[in-house]
Amino acid sequence: MSDDIVIYEVDGPVATITMNRPAVANAQDSRLIDELDAAFNAADINDSVRVVILAGAGRHFSSGHDLKALVGEAEPDSWRTMRETPEGKFHHERVMYYERCKRIHDFRKPTIAAVHGSCVAAGLMLACMCDLIVAADDARFSNPVLRMTGAGVELLVEPWEIGIRKAKEFLLTSQTLDAAEAWRLGLVNRVVPAGELMERTRQLAEEIALVPPVTAQVVKESINHAADLMGKSDSWRYHFMAHQWAHNTKTALDALERRKQQRSMKEVFADRDRGDTEGPARPKPAATDGAS
Ligand code: ZN
Repeated sequence: MSDDIVIYEVDGPVATITMNRPAVANAQDSRLIDELDAAFNAADINDSVRVVILAGAGRHFSSGHDLKALVGEAEPDSWRTMRETPEGKFHHERVMYYERCKRIHDFRKPTIAAVHGSCVAAGLMLACMCDLIVAADDARFSNPVLRMTGAGVELLVEPWEIGIRKAKEFLLTSQTLDAAEAWRLGLVNRVVPAGELMERTRQLAEEIALVPPVTAQVVKESINHAADLMGKSDSWRYHFMAHQWAHNTKTALDALERRKQQRSMKEVFADRDRGDTEGPARPKPAATDGAS
C-alpha cells in the first residue's frame, strides 16, 4: 500500500481519490485536506477525467477532523498557532474546512463518494459535498459533536440531506444511521455489499461518463443552482458564523480547556458520551410504574 496520504489514480474516464490514513480512520488533518484539494485540481485539469470517485482506504471512510490536535498528540501543523485565538480559528476553519469543502461541492465534474465503515462529523460533511453517495452495507453515518459543544460541523449539511425534522433528531441525539436507514432517508443513492463497493461505484461512474462532459457539468451546476435558490449557500454562510460563535462561548472554551488536559482521545470520547451533566441540578425523574 502506498505511503501517500491521498492516492490519486486515473483509469479511463474515472479518477479515484482515496484518503489514505487508515491507522486513524482517515481523520482529516491539514496535510490530508491540502492533498485532497490538490488531487481535485489534478482531476479538474485532466480532460480525460469525466467523473471523480472519493473513497477512504482501510476500514472506514473518515472519522472526521483530526481532533488529536486538541489533546496535544498531533504532528506539528502550520495552522496550529493560528487556532489559538478566536480570529485565527475562524480563519483556519473558513479556509481549510468551509472553503475547501465548498470547492468539492462546486467541483465542475460529477463526483461520487464511496462510503464504508464509519462516516463521522466532518467525514459526513465531506461525503455530502459529492453529487452522489454509494454506501457499503456496513456504512454508518453520525455527527455526534453537539455533546462536545460543537454546533454541528462547519457546513450544516443535514437539513439538505435528510430533511428538517430528521436533521434535528440526528444532531440533537447524536444518532447513528446505518446504510439502510441512510438510503431510506435519501442520504445515499445506493447501498451495495461491502466487498463490491469500489466495483459498483465504478460502474455508476462509467454510466455517468457516457454523458458528454459539458452536458453533465451544466446539469450538475443547474441542480446546484436550484439548491442555492432554495437557500443552500446562504444557510451555510449563516451556519458557519453561528458555528464560530458557538466555538467562542464560555461553555465551548471551558470544554476545550478540559479536553487539553485529557491524555487520550479515549478520555475525550468518554467525556462526550457522558454528555453535559453540569449546570442547574436536574429534577430527578418521578418514579412511575410505567403505566402512566
Ligand atoms: Zn469548527
